This record gives sequence, C-alpha cells and structure tokens, in this order.
Amino acid sequence: MRCLNCGSNHLGEIGPSQYYCWNCYVEIKKERHLYDVAGLDRDGTLVSLNDLFTEDERRVE
Ligand SMILES: [Zn+2]
Repeated sequence: MRCLNCGSNHLGEIGPSQYYCWNCYVEIKKERHLYDVAGLDRDGTLVSLNDLFTEDERRVE
C-alpha cells in the first residue's frame, strides 16, 4: 500500500485498517470501499483531506 497523498510506502499501522504516513503525516483509514484521508490542522485538530482526492484515487483496490 502507498500513501494517497505523497505516494510513499513508508506507512505505519496505527490501528485496524488505519495507517499513518511518516513522510507527509497524514492518516489513512481503510473504509469498506474508499480510503479516508485526514491530516492534522495547525492547532492539532484532525481534518478530513478527502476533498483533495477524487473518488477514483480513494478507491480500495
Ligand atoms: Zn504520505
């Protein structure tokens, strides 16, 4: 699996079907059909980055 955001395969597993990219610091969660991408805001809030990707890009293969 590769990071949807930067393409790196330097991902750590942080939970069931949940990954963290050590390269660009986004959290990727595998939902049933689509990946959920989230990043940390400047104040530390987890915000969804799904808007940055097309549904095709987020599709679980
Ligand atoms: Zn990344």
